[in-house]
Amino acid sequence: IIFHLKNGNNLKDISSNPTSKIQYKPAKNKTIFFRDYVLGNSIKKLKNLTQNQVLSELKNVGVSGRGGAFFQTATKWTYCKNNKNKPKYIICNADEGEPGTFKDKAILNNLPGLMLEGMILAAYVTGAKNGIIYLRAEYKYLQPKIEKAIALMYKSGFLGKNINGIKNFNFEIELQLGAGAYICGAETALIESLEGKRGEPRIRNLFPTEAGYLNKPTVVNNVETFALAARVIELGSCFFKNIGTKISKGTKLVSISGDIAKPGIFEIEWGTTINQLLSIEMCNASEPYYIQINGPSGVCINQNEFNRKIAKEDLACNGSIMVFNKNRNIIQIIENFTKFFRSESCGNCTPCRAGNQILLEKIKKIKNGIATANDLDDIKKWNNIMKLSSKCGLGKYSASTFSSAIDKFRNYFNKIIIKNKGEIKFDLEAAVF
Ligand code: SF4
Repeated sequence: IIFHLKNGNNLKDISSNPTSKIQYKPAKNKTIFFRDYVLGNSIKKLKNLTQNQVLSELKNVGVSGRGGAFFQTATKWTYCKNNKNKPKYIICNADEGEPGTFKDKAILNNLPGLMLEGMILAAYVTGAKNGIIYLRAEYKYLQPKIEKAIALMYKSGFLGKNINGIKNFNFEIELQLGAGAYICGAETALIESLEGKRGEPRIRNLFPTEAGYLNKPTVVNNVETFALAARVIELGSCFFKNIGTKISKGTKLVSISGDIAKPGIFEIEWGTTINQLLSIEMCNASEPYYIQINGPSGVCINQNEFNRKIAKEDLACNGSIMVFNKNRNIIQIIENFTKFFRSESCGNCTPCRAGNQILLEKIKKIKNGIATANDLDDIKKWNNIMKLSSKCGLGKYSASTFSSAIDKFRNYFNKIIIKNKGEIKFDLEAAVF
């Protein structure tokens, strides 16, 4: 454990609690994010760093997109830098809406300046003159705090013209609020929303670095990625040498909720195992049975996998971990997730729009005790169809938990089925662990 930020979040309420009192214990000076913050520390380093040197530092640490795709940040910034089209834009995706994910909120609430510095670094590398923070509507209460941090940056000479005395290094940042749509966390839907259009994902034939906001070269990164980039430049890549694993260097912010004594936000070293996370010293889980990694659009794991590591090379976690104990009904968990996706689907493409409704019909059959083995096969087929033919991640991954639960908790499913004239039928009465 690097630190534990308690904020009382639970499964039902992941965003409304505005308090984020930090209660952390720095271990071995390894904390990356929540060490002392001194305004402009990373920006001051730019006087002695070229654009390519900034990119090399990010590459050395392997900084990659913390939203879950883990695309190399240096590569993304390089694409934008090399694009001759102008103007260019830097967008901070602060639309953290995945159920069970609330770790970006800790940065927005406690270290908004660190996130701004990451955006300023991106502008330095790419030559962008304008940046926008897209803040999810549910985090509106953080707007004054972020705007105060922006104002301080201007006052200190880290935003505006000739930043930090570097000639022609000009960059402005503004904030725009979302309107409560989960889909706008997808970068192209976010860009559409910023342009004042309906928040629907674009057909992905061009990356935003080629044609993003207003069809201009655009870097979109999330809050944690920008904050990390700032720390890398401030501390230097050597600092990260002995923290994390060989492939996953440094630390990761994770929000942990569910059947645990200590829900909240933790900064953990990459390579921490699930067993360590569940221990008394950390979140103190009682009889954990089912763990959801990466929110409802992620995967679930069973007890046989609790020795796996949170690392890009093993369980590549975007920062969301939900713990369920033996008193939970898996079908109920999956029903909640599927209802969420059905509500949040933008409805643009059929596999997602219809697929989630079909999954709910299957769940209904299971709950009514009339599902057959064919229904389980159908669920897995729908998972493939939705993955292959949905336009964006929402549709692509909304059946992945259901499908992986059938594989990972086969014994659970076997326990609750009874053979009925050659058909497999779910026994609702037995549908508990
Ligand atoms: Fe919309 Fe779902 Fe299609 Fe994404 S997959 S574009 S959310 S309908």
